[in-house]
Amino acid sequence: MRFACDAMLGKLARWLRLSGYDTAYQPEADDGELLRACREERRILLTRDVELAGRAKGAGVEVVLVESEHIEEQLVQLVRELGITLRASSGASLCPICNTPLVEAEQVERPEHLGDGEVYTCPGCGRVYWEGSHWRSIAERVRRVEQKVRGR
Ligand SMILES: [Zn+2]
Repeated sequence: MRFACDAMLGKLARWLRLSGYDTAYQPEADDGELLRACREERRILLTRDVELAGRAKGAGVEVVLVESEHIEEQLVQLVRELGITLRASSGASLCPICNTPLVEAEQVERPEHLGDGEVYTCPGCGRVYWEGSHWRSIAERVRRVEQKVRGR
């Protein structure tokens, strides 16, 4: 499953990438370019724009009209409607910034305060990620989303 997020959904794009889903996010693209990219790259369009969702359907693009403006509710909707799996580990993640698969880093200078979690680098943009406190808060959010999905 591959996605494209409209300009309103940058945060959702980062979350999908963290969970390993190839997600295009080009906020500068206009609607026509977005739809063309979805068709050519067979991406599911995620949008909060009713009009754009209608155009997408007309153009034969699979589309999900995202209901909430809150990230947790957005994730709940996608888990329910598309059956996506959220991951709280960076092992299979794509870079949240540039959508490139992360690779495990062996020899990274590790700042002392970051503890001994796994370290990953992005071959695309060179950023370094580590499974420290930031990943714990990601894991907590994933748990909350899973609870909401089960709870209703
Ligand atoms: Zn990157």
